[in-house]
Amino acid sequence: MALSNLDNLYRQVILDHSSHPHHHGHLENTNYDTTMFNPTCGDVLKIEVEVVDNKIKDIAFSGNGCTISQASASMMTDTVINKDVSDAIRIADTFINVIVHPGEYKGKDLSILEDAETLTGVAQFPARVKCATLAWKGLKKALLSNNGTGVVGQVVHHEDD
Ligand code: ZN
Repeated sequence: MALSNLDNLYRQVILDHSSHPHHHGHLENTNYDTTMFNPTCGDVLKIEVEVVDNKIKDIAFSGNGCTISQASASMMTDTVINKDVSDAIRIADTFINVIVHPGEYKGKDLSILEDAETLTGVAQFPARVKCATLAWKGLKKALLSNNGTGVVGQVVHHEDD
């Protein structure tokens, strides 16, 4: 995707997140994790989550990939840390739906997405949709794994679902 096609302000926020990602690395205490692959672009993301009392106490991501996938992962971790698991899943669903079905969200308040709202323009670039949604789908896969009780070490290939 030509990033230059996105609004300048949005582009700057995306570049800031990709060059200085937040919550990048590994957690000492992980009870939920998923490794996601996006074969279309070659992005690999590992999402590690520490859930305590049904709340995301800490979260980290690692791996490598394009600007969009890295920025999106950084934004995702900022947005869901300290949130209840159910709220985090609802926010992830909203983000994924906005990217996949942008028309349904025209004029709607998307402030729950925080910085990730800047990525909604990616919906115009179908080839990059998987890059943008990879981290959020990984978060859901992690949190919903093992009937919501978590699992460590699962590996998931990004599907067209
Ligand atoms: Zn990518």
